[in-house]
Amino acid sequence: MISKHNIKDGFINYCQICGSKKIKNVLDLGHQPLADDLKNFGSNKLGTNFYPISIGFCKKCILLQNNYIVDDRILYTKNYHYRPGITKDVVNNFKEMSLKLLKLYKLNSNSVVADIGCNDGSLLKEFKSLGILKTVGIDPTNTIKYAPRYIKTIQDFMNLKCSKKALNFYGKMDLITTTNVFAHTNKLKDFILGVKKLIKKDGVFVIENHYLGAIIKKKQFDSFYHEHLRTYSLKSLINLLKYYGFKIIDAYTTDRYGGNIQAHFTLGNRKKSNKIKKILIHEKKEKLDKEITYKKLNNEIGDIDLKISKFLDKNKNKKIVAKAFPARASILIHRFSGIKNHIAFVGEQPTSLKLNKFVPGTNIQILSSKRFKKYKPDIMIILAWHLFDTIYKKWKPKLKKTKFVQILPNFKIY
Ligand SMILES: [Zn+2]
Repeated sequence: MISKHNIKDGFINYCQICGSKKIKNVLDLGHQPLADDLKNFGSNKLGTNFYPISIGFCKKCILLQNNYIVDDRILYTKNYHYRPGITKDVVNNFKEMSLKLLKLYKLNSNSVVADIGCNDGSLLKEFKSLGILKTVGIDPTNTIKYAPRYIKTIQDFMNLKCSKKALNFYGKMDLITTTNVFAHTNKLKDFILGVKKLIKKDGVFVIENHYLGAIIKKKQFDSFYHEHLRTYSLKSLINLLKYYGFKIIDAYTTDRYGGNIQAHFTLGNRKKSNKIKKILIHEKKEKLDKEITYKKLNNEIGDIDLKISKFLDKNKNKKIVAKAFPARASILIHRFSGIKNHIAFVGEQPTSLKLNKFVPGTNIQILSSKRFKKYKPDIMIILAWHLFDTIYKKWKPKLKKTKFVQILPNFKIY
């Protein structure tokens, strides 16, 4: 099966982890542009490609997967627009995560830590502030250029070749982290073999990703964008890493990005936490291993779509805007056509790299959210719904007459 873990582009008809052909199609979001395919004003939008988003379910692994794989050289162009370092909540989460790992695995100034998909180095910066100076960041995109100089960096995808380069800095790693990356790669075999080469025998490999349990609980189908090839349960991660000799030692569910799973693995022998069993039991209790759970999600998405359309049609003469454009917002805009047809523009933080670009595949502009004050919208749709409270608290005092619309997990007007 390991050879199948380097998944080829296009449609696949087997489970990306166990190879089973008994996968069920549970959700179809049609053809959509890539969520990060942001074109500059004035450039030719005709150049936008649309690719299928078709979600399959493997009962054996408890895994949701995208059945259509887009070439990662197309997905991770050098101009990637996401930077964690500019979002306060994300930085705070990294602070908390680094401190927890430091205590849990008794890391000290001799420890070596690598972060795969390090982006601007935000997580490794937190390790440095805790006294861990030997850090290596790996990322294929240009965002790595924003990482501070004291972090050793390699601009590349994770694989054996990349690991060999990384070993030259400080030798093998005590800790390797990868946050919100492991669901993205279509070269799983190369990635995990790279990690295996780079990690000490009793080192710890920490994977954090969006979690199937939270996706279902909060109906966050907007996380099924092309980059997210898999939506993991804990069981699926254990199944996958087992092929490479990694054993699970600990696991957590967290609130990050609307709900993440963090799983800790090692090649050596370490004590196993009892949290693992708890989460596995919970996955069965929540019926994540049952197809009906995903059919229900599909129906609920239809219901929310109707509510949004009705509300916006009724308010079509009002000034309507949307707030924030995380990658997942593209899925919402394309699935909920009411939003696509009615918003004047999307507001983003003044420091965002996404400003002055079009929402992928549309004429909708992404502009600085500073404009809200002058524009005085009647209605603001919160696309970054997982940050609804933060956004609401910030903007309500400035826009007292504006109605704020939450679309997930439930349609609500504030
Ligand atoms: Zn499977």
